Amino acid sequence: MLGQRQRTIGQTMSASGVGLHSGRPSKVSLSPAPVDNGIVFRRKVNSHVETCQASIRNLRPMELCTAVGSNGFQIQTTEHVLSALWGFGIDNAFIDIDSENIDSEEVPAMDGSAAPFAKLIQLAGILPQDRHRTYLKILEPIRVGDDNRTISILPSPFPKITYTIDYDHQLIQRQTYEHEWSAVEFEANIAQARTFAFSHEVEALRARGLGNGGSLDNTIVFTETGIMNEGTLRFPDECVRHKVLDLIGDLSLLGIHVIGHIVGKRSGHHLHTRLVQAILDNPEAWTLVGPPGKLANDLADLVPNGKDSIQTVPLPANSAF
Ligand SMILES: [Zn+2]
Repeated sequence: MLGQRQRTIGQTMSASGVGLHSGRPSKVSLSPAPVDNGIVFRRKVNSHVETCQASIRNLRPMELCTAVGSNGFQIQTTEHVLSALWGFGIDNAFIDIDSENIDSEEVPAMDGSAAPFAKLIQLAGILPQDRHRTYLKILEPIRVGDDNRTISILPSPFPKITYTIDYDHQLIQRQTYEHEWSAVEFEANIAQARTFAFSHEVEALRARGLGNGGSLDNTIVFTETGIMNEGTLRFPDECVRHKVLDLIGDLSLLGIHVIGHIVGKRSGHHLHTRLVQAILDNPEAWTLVGPPGKLANDLADLVPNGKDSIQTVPLPANSAF
């Protein structure tokens, strides 16, 4: 997946469903975008278009999902569509949302995984663009969390994720998954992993106004001894694979692809986005590799004194990146 050129998709593709938390109908369309655009959410209000960059600077605190917002426009449950784009190595795309909800738009839940979005991207086609990509290469470890829940990023020649979860449930227990970052790996092993919940939590979630669109069509619901859904899990370790999926989506809020090894233990959306912020807060722990450009400048804007201190290092001629 990690070519040297930026990538977009070949044409506009759409899908419709309901929002996991709002329970409202929602339509999402993925469209091509020019170089150095990044991933940008859009919605049409009357005759004008509002935009919101998928960036950590636009992060909005939400329970149980990742939301971004700007200019009075908020989108929640962004992580699965962003995971599909980032997992396939798409740098530049527009995500149009129409969820008939003026207060907070929500990406449709589809089947609770990133597979329907991955399918849209495959149907649209992936196009290399006429500009090289800039990477953020980790030089020193960065860690957030506590003894119980933690996430770190370590120097590594290739992008990689190792994720461990630990649930007191006979079908889950302790699971570790190692993801070597590539579009092929993402499509085969990560994209299909679904959201999960526990039956004893469902009523409490609803009481808090969350999960109103949740159903057995878009969430694995674990009972004390099994699952409520018909059929079986898509993978014996589907839960930890879904955590990797969420992490890839949350990581896209950095706006630039990372070369490093992420190690997550009992982590979740809150720690994922804290790691993104910690990367920005520790510019001595990384360098930008590749040509200067708008996406690199946008990232430098998010770093304290970054405009003066962040330099991009040219790509080595023989680099795989
Ligand atoms: Zn998820």
